[in-house]
Amino acid sequence: MVQQRAVTQELPAYVQGRSIPNAIKLSANENPYPPLASVVQTVSEQLGGMNYYPDMSSAALMARIADRHSVRVEEVAVGAGSVEVAQQLINASAGEGDEVMFAWRSFEAYPILVKIAGATPVMVPLTADERHDLPAMAAAVTDRTRLILLCTPNNPTGHSLQVDELEEFLAAVPKNILVVIDEAYTHFDTDPNSVNGLDFFRKHENVAVLHTFSKAYGLAGLRVGYAIAPEPVAENLRRVAVPFGVTSLAQTAAIASLDAEDELNERVTLITAERDRVITELRNLGWPIAKSQGNFIWIRAAERTAEINDALLAEGIVARAFMGDGVRITIGTPEMSDLLVRTLAEIEPIAS
Ligand SMILES: *Cc1c(COP(=O)(O)O)cnc(C)c1O
Repeated sequence: MVQQRAVTQELPAYVQGRSIPNAIKLSANENPYPPLASVVQTVSEQLGGMNYYPDMSSAALMARIADRHSVRVEEVAVGAGSVEVAQQLINASAGEGDEVMFAWRSFEAYPILVKIAGATPVMVPLTADERHDLPAMAAAVTDRTRLILLCTPNNPTGHSLQVDELEEFLAAVPKNILVVIDEAYTHFDTDPNSVNGLDFFRKHENVAVLHTFSKAYGLAGLRVGYAIAPEPVAENLRRVAVPFGVTSLAQTAAIASLDAEDELNERVTLITAERDRVITELRNLGWPIAKSQGNFIWIRAAERTAEINDALLAEGIVARAFMGDGVRITIGTPEMSDLLVRTLAEIEPIAS
């Protein structure tokens, strides 16, 4: 038997949102709308060049991102989805014996990526009302803590961090620990008191922000995301990145998407309005659904998780069940939402 790292046996499997033929896929927080015609057009024009490697530095995209956020290009790092950029952040920050802290439940990729790096995940439970327990997280910092991941709005619970609580947290965390704000769903966040990661990046020397083109921009299948980080960190991210990880098509599509931001924002507005409608209708049916700032809702179903998931599946709706914990359901088109509400109307709501 060849020798392999023992950690590979201990990794929790990342469960992909299921796809079932003819079913409505609300399991992966994808954008329900097809790519914009302008984006498809630009990418199509590039197909004939796939025999060439991409620009390894993603220079044009990096410049475009820097310009978009008024940061220096030296503060940008890109990757094959923000999952890869999160992996770069973890690999550049923590190894054997180091700790990486994040709330739990949160994005299921975090514990996997931390363990692959050989570091120890420190998972701090959410509060009873599903928020990051920032005081508990600050108290859990040790001299081994190298990185803290904050997800806002949090996947899968939908709560977002508030400006005041994050200011307090950052005042309590030593400046030599990098704090990453994962804003995969920030476009869908309509709460004016929510954190804007870039504001914190500008103010704090130990803050980085993680963004993706997969959700609001609808490019999940092409894999491209980025970090905005203090220059020395961003430089290290580029060092640990998989060479040529971001394909030419992904670079092109990301730039075209930034060119079409207004059009994309119209879709984001449709999705957030739909989210709020679904929450209101479910609440009217007696379902205690918390406000969500993401493109998904969360049902803290506990021991009824499997039952609710099965009832949705029976109507052709594929959600994302975390057994024993809850069900996350992506907001799709209005027709999909109607079916979702009709289906849940047939089930006894969970107790509030
Ligand atoms: C979907 C998601 C991402 C983005 O993943 P990509 O690799 O960019 O597709 C990052 N963070 C969180 C919390 C997510 O839910």
